[in-house]
Amino acid sequence: MSLIVKKFGGSSVADDNKLRNVARIVTQSRADGHQVVVVVSAQGDTTDDLLEKAAALNESASRREMDMLLACGEQMSAALLAITIEKMGCPVISLTGWQAGMQTDSNHAAARIKDIDPERVRMELDKHNIVVIAGFQGINKFGDVTTIGRGGSDTTAVAFAAALKADLCQIYTDVDGVFTADPRIVPDAKKLDAISFDEMLELASLGAQVLASRSVEMAKRLRVKLEVLSSFRECPGTIVKEVVKMENMQVSGVARDNNVARIALIGLKDVPGVAARVFSLLAQHKINVDIILQSIGRKDAKDISFTVAAGNLAEARALLEEHRESLDYEKLEVSDRISKVSAVGAGMVNNPGVAARMFEALAAAGINIQMISTSEIKVSVLIDLADSDRAVQVIHQEFFGG
Ligand code: ASP
Ligand code: MG
Repeated sequence: MSLIVKKFGGSSVADDNKLRNVARIVTQSRADGHQVVVVVSAQGDTTDDLLEKAAALNESASRREMDMLLACGEQMSAALLAITIEKMGCPVISLTGWQAGMQTDSNHAAARIKDIDPERVRMELDKHNIVVIAGFQGINKFGDVTTIGRGGSDTTAVAFAAALKADLCQIYTDVDGVFTADPRIVPDAKKLDAISFDEMLELASLGAQVLASRSVEMAKRLRVKLEVLSSFRECPGTIVKEVVKMENMQVSGVARDNNVARIALIGLKDVPGVAARVFSLLAQHKINVDIILQSIGRKDAKDISFTVAAGNLAEARALLEEHRESLDYEKLEVSDRISKVSAVGAGMVNNPGVAARMFEALAAAGINIQMISTSEIKVSVLIDLADSDRAVQVIHQEFFGG
């Protein structure tokens, strides 16, 4: 008998039929002799709808009250799924995050998991219950409800899998697994049988949406074996684990992120300490900077361009304008009509030339590269938003054919 944690995302529990489908998957797994813990997200667009509802009443609602509100979405899914499973005659209990022992810090809306006390869940499993846990939420030391950030149910599932020493953590979604590219952009993208944590982490943080990157990071750190699979089609998904046999795969996936913006500071002084001042200012305001490009100085001036998440553009721009005098630049330019397209593969380390092939594919398609950034296992380029789909297609074609 093994213990399996199964997580179902919002699209997998969106309506009554989908809840029945999930109940079937879960009860079948229990009938096969497994202990089953289920983590659910809020149904469909519930979280967005709740955010809108609150904004209509107060655009600057406190994060504590927003957490009280948003946690309801997952709580509702958990109860509805338990009710559906009960109807199938199977012993089941649903638990809120805090009932299940999820303890977090007090950073409302983006709380960090501090500890999980799995005692209650274990007790319910010992009573032969299927345990359904509301994802995305916990409790802080004051007894207040917290949420752990968008996409947090993936992380909840991994955290419980680690705390319960589960044999496997299955993340059910509306696609068959992790693909070599988003099938909506590249129709002949292939499903991967397996991928390493490091590659998955890059793909997730570079825009692939199947898994929240924080959950992958946690799975790697706590050695939780993950599987990404479909709620709607019965077929093996993609296993995410420490080492994957590489064969000749130089690239395992192409991802893109359109939620990026570029900021250029033109005519900065070419003296020591300038970059430090710019990026400390942004860091102090918790604005993450991604790709950075500094031009070679001309006369006494230099330019620095960098990217931030699109959602941070307004704040970053305002900050830089506010500090224009002390930073001493001539001009500030911004663009949010850009896209970051990346090729990821653990095989790159031992295979020179991946970047060159990627750039050649883009050149042949007449796509201009604005910025480049590389790591051991990825090459990212910044391009015009209008070229984004085509860039993914030609890079995928270069490495996977088809
Ligand atoms: N319901 C939350 C969200 O939409 C958490 C999750 O689905 O993972 O972000
Ligand atoms: Mg998700």
